[in-house]
Parts: sequence; C-alpha cells; structure tokens
Amino acid sequence: MKYISTRGQTDRKSFSEILLMGLAPDGGLMLPEAYPAVSETMLDQWRGLSYRELAFEIIRLFATDIPEADLRRIIDRTYTEEAFGSADITPVRTLKDGIKIQALSNGPTLAFKDMAMQFLGNAFEYVLNKENKQLNILGATSGDTGSAAEYALRGKKGVNVFMLSPEGKMSAFQRAQMFSLQDENIVNIAVKGMFDDCQDIVKSVQNDHAFKEKYHIGTVNSINWGRIVAQVAYYFAGYFRATDNNRQEVSFCVPSGNFGNVCAGHIAKQMGLPIRRLIVATNENDVLDQFFKTGEYRPRTTEQTYVTSSPSMDISKASNFERFVFDLMARDSDEINALWAEVGAGKGFSLAHKLPEIREKYGFVSGRSLHQDRLATIRQVYETDGELIDPHTADGVKVAREVREDGEIIVCLETALAAKFDATIREAVGDVAIPRPAKLNGLEDLPQRVQVVPNNADIVKSIIREKLD
Ligand SMILES: *Cc1c(COP(=O)(O)O)cnc(C)c1O
Repeated sequence: MKYISTRGQTDRKSFSEILLMGLAPDGGLMLPEAYPAVSETMLDQWRGLSYRELAFEIIRLFATDIPEADLRRIIDRTYTEEAFGSADITPVRTLKDGIKIQALSNGPTLAFKDMAMQFLGNAFEYVLNKENKQLNILGATSGDTGSAAEYALRGKKGVNVFMLSPEGKMSAFQRAQMFSLQDENIVNIAVKGMFDDCQDIVKSVQNDHAFKEKYHIGTVNSINWGRIVAQVAYYFAGYFRATDNNRQEVSFCVPSGNFGNVCAGHIAKQMGLPIRRLIVATNENDVLDQFFKTGEYRPRTTEQTYVTSSPSMDISKASNFERFVFDLMARDSDEINALWAEVGAGKGFSLAHKLPEIREKYGFVSGRSLHQDRLATIRQVYETDGELIDPHTADGVKVAREVREDGEIIVCLETALAAKFDATIREAVGDVAIPRPAKLNGLEDLPQRVQVVPNNADIVKSIIREKLD
C-alpha cells in the first residue's frame, strides 16, 4: 500500500516512510491511495478474535512494508492486559438507558490517546532501529498529549523526548504523571508562559532548519498517520462487542476536538464496517458541530477558543478534518488546495451543497454539550448507574441521547477516566471518592524531574544541544 498527500504534491510513500512524518512537505496530510475493503467473510472470521489478533489483522492491511512477524511482535507488545487493565483492552458496557460505552482510557495515562501512542512508541523504536536512525521528539502539551507521548516513548532506544509545558498551568495529577518519569530519554521543560508560548517555541525550533536537521527533531501530534491507523482497530473491536452478528449496524458517538478519533471511525466505515452513523460531539468549541449542521467550516483563532471543563476538546481548528474533506471532494487535491487557501486566509469555507452526501453516504451527524450539560450528565449517570464518567465522555453521552433514533445501537467512546478531572467531577456530584487505578496511588508523592526555563527558544535549544552533543 502506498500513501499520498491530500495536497497532491508529495511522492507516493510507504507506511514506514510516513510513520516518522508529520505534515507532508506540500503542507497536506498523508493517507492511503485507497482504503482496504473488508468483506463479509473477513468480518465473520474476525468476530471471535482477541484485541491483539484483531489489531494485527487491521493494521497489516495498512502497514504492508513491515514483515508480518515483526508487526505481530509490535502489536503483541503494545496491547497487553498489564498496560490496558483488562484482557479485553477496550471492554464495552451498557448504561441503564441502553447507551453503550467503550472504554478506551484504561492505558497508562488514563486517556484514549494511549491506544495509539503506545503502538506508535513501539513502531517508532522498530523503524528507527532497523534504519539505524535517531529521532528527537520536541513537543508542547497542555496535558494529555504530552503525557501519552512520554509514556509511549520512555526508555525506547533511539528516541529522546523534549516536552514543553506551561509552568503551573497543568493539574497536580498531570504534572505528577509527566514529571515523575525518571527515564533518561524523557526531558520535561516547564516554560514560564502559556501553552501558546510553548507551541511558538516548538515552531521556532522547527523553523531553524539547520538545527532541526542536525538534531533529528521530529514531532508527534494528532495528524500522524500511525495514530489514526491504530485507532481504526478499536472501532472494529467495539462493533463486535456491541453486536451479535454482522448484519447489525452500530453508530459511534465520539467526543471530538482535532477530529483524529472520529477520522479513524470514518475510515473503518469506508472499509466496510457496518457503521450506521458517526456522531461528532463537541463542547463549547463547536466548529465541527457547526460544520455538520450547516456545511460551513469556520475555524477560529486561539483567542476565540473557550477554556472549558472538557479541556482536551478545546480546539478550534480540527487538524485531521482535511482527511475527511479530501474523501468528500472525491479526492481532488485542487479542491483541497483551494479550500485550505480560504482557511489560511482566515475565512473558512462552505460545503452546504454537500450536506445530503455528508449525512447519507458518510453518516455524519453532530451535537454539542456545554458546561451545565456535562455536569448534569455526570450527575445523572452517577445517580442511575452508580459510576463516574469523565467530562469528555459526558459530552458524548449527552449528544448520543439527543440524537438517538428508535432501535439504534450507539457506542459512546470513553476518552478519559474521571480520576483525571476531579475538580469537575466534584462540581457535578459533590465530594465523593473518585476511583483511581491502583497503579496510580501515591503518584503525586513521587519525586519529580523538570527544568523551569524562561519563555525563550534559544534556551530550549541549548538544553537539546547539551543533552545530545
Ligand atoms: C484528545 C482528546 C479528545 C479529542 O480527540 P480528537 O482526536 O482530537 O478529536 C477527546 N477527549 C479526550 C479525553 C482527549 O484526550
């Protein structure tokens, strides 16, 4: 299988070649020339598989240049009961009102990003080792992404991680998660500034091409294809757990920000998994809800982005959205270049004439959930089902209930655990004990490793130099 760019100006590449890549050189996103088709026979054979076996069957359709035995080893090492808390890896449960919840957040950092990052960490190590290469990840985080990357890459050969975060802006839990890592190849840097300042430093280092080249600087962000592909697997797993046979259809409801998670659902549907609808749930930052309701895509600036109680969805430019629009526009790169020229000019675009196709052929619908909805949903699920769901998952449950049709099976993706967001949980249900996986007890008391630096790219560069020279 070969990969092409949505912008049409990049040579065809193999899976291994794009694994370490962020944006394509032409500014687009990489994706397969064609999605592999899944037949009824394949679905029948896959229904009884374990998560690991299933992930292997799916990922091998995309990673065709990695020998199967090697790929199997990477996957077997990734999706273990030890890392994800159960043999099922992503168990599905049913709330009293019939809405199903697929647990994607029982990995090391208690958010769904582990599902992809843990795979990517092992795949990176494999490819780097094979090609005798080194990679130094420089990233900026306000919480979930940075910790997922660090837990995926800790102790890996050939990789160092330099992670910037805004000093004092993350929760005590998030700080403890990242800064307690004692691995030599993890470097935490707290910047005296905001998240945007951290991102500006990353951009500034990236733009120093000589430095970037010399120190093999790369990134891991949500546009990375390896992450999307690993996510496709859990849509299949969720489908099999939520149904008895392959004639049934399932709708997935996905708490969304960068459109990375639901993009994998779109691909699973294109491959032939019987998905009825893909329900995009947003918070107050509702750019995607607006698009799926009106066909207008109007990305906003950082200043126009609300800080909410489902913070991992506080995004106003959905970086993976371009992959879906590429399919919607019959894979015409000229169209994509024209549409994203409008985005670049701060205007956005309208595809209102495509709404019937977006709904009927692609199955997309959407809804949004606000702070009070989130609290009410957390409270209601707690009272009825006796369990605590996290604020992002609550946004999904709220929207799923709103759009559910008679007889429709809806699986809501659980994107984080309540333990990560105790302040909002307490606001919703009062001072209750919030369950936390035993392995994280005492996390905040562990010694922490972090360097605090002024908001200055040169100082960050000198830390990188010192470590690598
Ligand atoms: C990242 C994240 C999301 C949003 O996922 P996207 O792939 O960016 O749409 C939702 N919930 C949680 C908890 C997350 O960490």
